[in-house]
Amino acid sequence: MIPPHFTYHAPTDLDQVFALLSEFGSKAKLLAGGHSLLPMMKFRFAEPGHLIDLGTVTGLKGIEVTEESLTIGAMSSESDILKYPDMDTLCPLLFEATGLIADPQIRNRGTIGGDIAHGDPGNDQPSVMLALDASFQLVSAAGTRLVKADQFFLGTYQTVLQPDELLTKIIIPRAAANRRCGFRKLKRKTGDFATAACALTLTLEDNQCSDVRIALTNLGPKSFRAEHAEWQLNSQPLSEDSINAAIHLAMQACEPAEDQRGNTEYKIKMAGEMLKRALSDAIE
Ligand SMILES: Cc1cc2nc3c(=O)[nH]c(=O)nc-3n(C[C@H](O)[C@H](O)[C@H](O)COP(=O)(O)OP(=O)(O)OC[C@H]3O[C@@H](n4cnc5c(N)ncnc54)[C@H](O)[C@@H]3O)c2cc1C
Repeated sequence: MIPPHFTYHAPTDLDQVFALLSEFGSKAKLLAGGHSLLPMMKFRFAEPGHLIDLGTVTGLKGIEVTEESLTIGAMSSESDILKYPDMDTLCPLLFEATGLIADPQIRNRGTIGGDIAHGDPGNDQPSVMLALDASFQLVSAAGTRLVKADQFFLGTYQTVLQPDELLTKIIIPRAAANRRCGFRKLKRKTGDFATAACALTLTLEDNQCSDVRIALTNLGPKSFRAEHAEWQLNSQPLSEDSINAAIHLAMQACEPAEDQRGNTEYKIKMAGEMLKRALSDAIE
């Protein structure tokens, strides 16, 4: 399938990106790895007349680790994240989830920024970012702002990104040594999106959970936190009953769309199962 005609632009710095965005407005689209945008263009869901390639812009790639945070350039590929030294111990949740995105070819081209900016409820990085309490640096000609993942996702393919803005950095706070995490994803086959997935982080001391963050993928119009389930786990000592109650509350929050991966009833059951397994990984 061939995408509609477009003009390709290869800016080399952010000023050129802003100038192109200002010149072409809603006729332009930013191009990162192209693994979501190009399929949408081929299906005529998007028909931008101008593609502005971020791959030629300097300064948008790379990973920086400090004692406080892990900062990832938006144009870093999923493979860059997996290959970064000790990423499995620096941020086990990010490492685990990234390794289960699509297949190696897509991970080599697809970027973490594109995965987040696309606002696809089937993408994994949005839930991972919600569970990790990440922030996003958004930049336009007018200036820079920092937006928490909790405030970023508005709906299916909808985020707070303005047409003249781009996502430049993802900032993940370094977790305390006693922070635990879990990630579980059900997919039909390698290369498919999640039927249901759960990313979570929590602290557990003396059998009491605190600061639980549970985020669910492909189970509603956007990636979201199961806040009632989090509250349930935070509010009393961990037990089989409290876990079952939390799973029930998370399942109640799901509104998946029926598709070739299953009907809503099946997907909601799988959401509960993914949460149960992710919780068990985190607790053990
Ligand atoms: C077969 C297949 C299976 C897949 N499975 C999964 C999966 O299991 N899990 C998963 O998470 N993803 C999956 N993906 C999606 C893949 O990870 C994409 O690479 C990702 O969604 C988009 O990243 P990209 O760099 O390719 O962005 P692009 O496709 O280039 O861009 C996507 C959108 O984001 C915008 N954009 C990109 N970068 C920026 C930026 N820095 N600032 C502002 N806007 C920006 C673009 O304008 C466009 O609208 C799959 C894709 C395919 C084709």
